Amino acid sequence: MAEKIIMMTEQRADTDRAPAIPAQLETPTGLLSDRLARPLHDLRISVTDRCNFRCVYCMPKAVFDNNYQYLPHTSLLSFEEITRLARLFVDHGVEKLRITGGEPLLRKNIERLIGMLAELKTISGKPLDLTLTTNASLLARKAQSLKDAGLQRVTVSLDALDNDTFRRMNDVDFSVDDVLKGIDVAHQVGLGPIKINMVVKGGMNDQEIVPMARHFRGSPYILRFIEYMDVGASNGWKLDEVIPSAEVVRRISAEMPLQPVAANYTGETASRWRYADGSGEIGVISSVTQAFCADCTRARLSTEGKLYTCLFATSGHDLRALLRAGRSDAEISSALAQLWRARGDRYSELRTSQTEAFKRERSANKVEMSYIGG
Ligand code: SF4
Repeated sequence: MAEKIIMMTEQRADTDRAPAIPAQLETPTGLLSDRLARPLHDLRISVTDRCNFRCVYCMPKAVFDNNYQYLPHTSLLSFEEITRLARLFVDHGVEKLRITGGEPLLRKNIERLIGMLAELKTISGKPLDLTLTTNASLLARKAQSLKDAGLQRVTVSLDALDNDTFRRMNDVDFSVDDVLKGIDVAHQVGLGPIKINMVVKGGMNDQEIVPMARHFRGSPYILRFIEYMDVGASNGWKLDEVIPSAEVVRRISAEMPLQPVAANYTGETASRWRYADGSGEIGVISSVTQAFCADCTRARLSTEGKLYTCLFATSGHDLRALLRAGRSDAEISSALAQLWRARGDRYSELRTSQTEAFKRERSANKVEMSYIGG
């Protein structure tokens, strides 16, 4: 799902509670699954609620202005707390950690956290897949130290190649060249394979689809197009702002023919397409038109230690409260197991079916030309 739209700010809901500790504690087996038989495979960890961009679809200036109250430092999970929780998640089967934000490179000494997480091993004793999503504004400066700390790869958000469009979207006058420089430095130090995520918003940057494809074709980078999602909306998708992935593929294919490629693994969010002439591949993430809840194995840990079992969850589970109440690993681990087993989230699927119903209803209610006269 679109990393850039992941809850960057805390959902300070009154309903957020510390999870209950089960009466019967259990030893993790690494084989946890939820009510829909989905394992717990990925953990996304937000390390800051701050960002130095003001993307119009994510942290618009109108809301995130000078008066916006960010979390105080004491509210944030410390690196030790994050690492302890990550270890408990890994014991339940997590194999992939993605560091997010806000802009994660704004968190002071982030390399120290990377170093701590890089020491963790999966239950079968392998290194974790340790990655980070960034807007690349600080990447050129930090790539080497992140690599040295043990980070394996990065995903970079870039919504346009045209400077005016990009600046309009990030709303802080940051230039495309600086992002491209960050990507190149990350590649040079070995933080790859690098994925580039472009959120496509109709009427905003969809004219950049083909130029982006052209630019990254034949490069070592994998460009992925993400359908624009109206995160937080409660009444159906804003369909008129969504460019379906099928349309993205059609537009690129018209100039540079594409062929579908099999998924790398079950639950891969991006559908893969390769250029027919062998000059690389792209991915499309159909968050709206083809919900992938059935394979969703992701949990999200917020900056202040709340666990969300879905990107669209309206309340979280306060793990920080357990940590700071001095609960033992066995207690917290058992609470996590209980939470995941109870998980039944499939928001996008439900939203999609509502949207389909909405479309059917609209279509059924259309006034016929034969009725109003041609
Ligand atoms: S359950 Fe569905 S809506 Fe929720 S995060 Fe997973 S894919 Fe997204």
